[in-house]
Amino acid sequence: MTSEFNLIQKYFTRPTQCTDLGIGDDAALVQISPGHQLAISADMSVVGTHFFQEATPYNIGWKSLAVNVSDMAAMGANPKWATLSIALPEIGEAWLAEFSRGLFTCADAFNIDLIGGDTAHGPLNIAIQIMGEIPIGKALARSGAKAGDDIWVSGNLGSAALGLAHLQQNQTLDDVATQNACLEALHTPQPRINLGVALRELAHSCIDISDGLLADLGHILKASKVGATIQLEAAPCLPVLKKRLDESAIQQAILAGGDDYELCFTAVPDMSDAILALSKTLNLDLTKIGQINTSNKLSVTLNKESVNLTQLGYDHFSS
Ligand code: ADP
Ligand code: MG
Repeated sequence: MTSEFNLIQKYFTRPTQCTDLGIGDDAALVQISPGHQLAISADMSVVGTHFFQEATPYNIGWKSLAVNVSDMAAMGANPKWATLSIALPEIGEAWLAEFSRGLFTCADAFNIDLIGGDTAHGPLNIAIQIMGEIPIGKALARSGAKAGDDIWVSGNLGSAALGLAHLQQNQTLDDVATQNACLEALHTPQPRINLGVALRELAHSCIDISDGLLADLGHILKASKVGATIQLEAAPCLPVLKKRLDESAIQQAILAGGDDYELCFTAVPDMSDAILALSKTLNLDLTKIGQINTSNKLSVTLNKESVNLTQLGYDHFSS
């Protein structure tokens, strides 16, 4: 049997780019750029809860790092280092090779060094810690939203939820292009680092949508002590969702579906032109979907009619 040491060497040790001492000693050594704060975040992925049994090891590798990178994007941080603590049921080298390929494809896409971790036997469990840099005082906190701000989201909402519903056979997606777009959104989410970094100068507050728009926007509202209205017909989504906005399963996917890892942010209306210009530069849709107000409530309308959020399982600022 291959020893743990050899496995780490073979699958997790790669040349580093912004690290003084990487994997192999008792601790890694890094230097923070002058004038910057260290942003630190961790996310654990448990198979069964966070991953479908059918997800490929490549997808598991990509997504377990991507969800961490997304937290850096939501802060406006630039990711630099990550550690990987992994429990594995048995040493399957084919699995490890593919997992490692997915993980490093994501790491390379965002110039992240894997600088350490831990390896143990047990039910599959992947705990990643990510560290990034942000100029002092420039972080995009959840608490910065102000009454009068517009609410924006990147990309499309509800695609990952629709992909999951398709896999669970709760929704049939006949159109192959839609099916692929939804499964891609579910399995290989694209963290919005370039957007988060640019928003340092444009936005008042920001969060990444991991648990669904209502829940995550709810965190901004609570932290900022404000309320909001959302116009559902403005929500960016695939055409297959757009044409069925009055169905509660579709409203559920857009408003409460998790796993999209898009950014939701607020900014003063005067920033609109700069945000639309940024959208062009990044080749990424940025869509205004509502406004922040002083009400302490979150309400959603569809063509001016109120949408019942309790029916969608949304409880006032909970979750
Ligand atoms: P220690 O007994 O000092 O904790 P380990 O044998 O656990 O050392 O780890 C040896 C080196 O390999 C350390 O640098 C550690 O950070 C790294 N390492 C262990 N497991 C992983 C992993 N899954 N991914 C990345 N680095 C790892
Ligand atoms: Mg150890």
